[in-house]
Amino acid sequence: MSQYSIRLYGDPVLRLRAPEVDTIDGRLKQLADDMVQTMYEAPGVGLAAPQVGVQKRMFVYDAGDGLGPRTVVNPVLSEVRGEWTYEEGCLSVPGLSWPIVRPKEVHLTGVDLEGNVVSIEADEFVARVFQHEVDHLDGVLLVERLDEDQRKEAKRILRARALGLPDADPDGLRTLTAGEQPAGHPGL
Ligand code: ZN
Repeated sequence: MSQYSIRLYGDPVLRLRAPEVDTIDGRLKQLADDMVQTMYEAPGVGLAAPQVGVQKRMFVYDAGDGLGPRTVVNPVLSEVRGEWTYEEGCLSVPGLSWPIVRPKEVHLTGVDLEGNVVSIEADEFVARVFQHEVDHLDGVLLVERLDEDQRKEAKRILRARALGLPDADPDGLRTLTAGEQPAGHPGL
């Protein structure tokens, strides 16, 4: 079992902008290892440090390309292009997902755990993972990426959950969350 648990919607740490990492050392590598373990246990394919309560600009991900888990420190997105709709979920907002429109392609730069420059052109799913994780580092949850009506309804569901009410559907909102994550839907 990982020593970390994933922070959930409502935890204030998820709303803060995480500061840049200034030293890559053994402790940071240990944190990355622990985050990878937490991500796989979830299970998920991406996890940002604030999701385990750590205020550092770094995230881990597994692109499912057989290369295993990777860590990006101080990531920056640039050259965003296009538009792509994807049914997006979040490990910090479990069990819910929404079709969210975001840029289709991004260029991600940062450094890895050896201090080497990382520069990746990504599109579709991997580009989505990068955008989602960088949002976490900026204190932004996917709920903020919904349109106004979706967001209101989402907040109503999440408030009911916070109050311990059954995941009721008082206003017939199932259509909004029609995307309730199917089995195997990757968490971010
Ligand atoms: Zn997330």
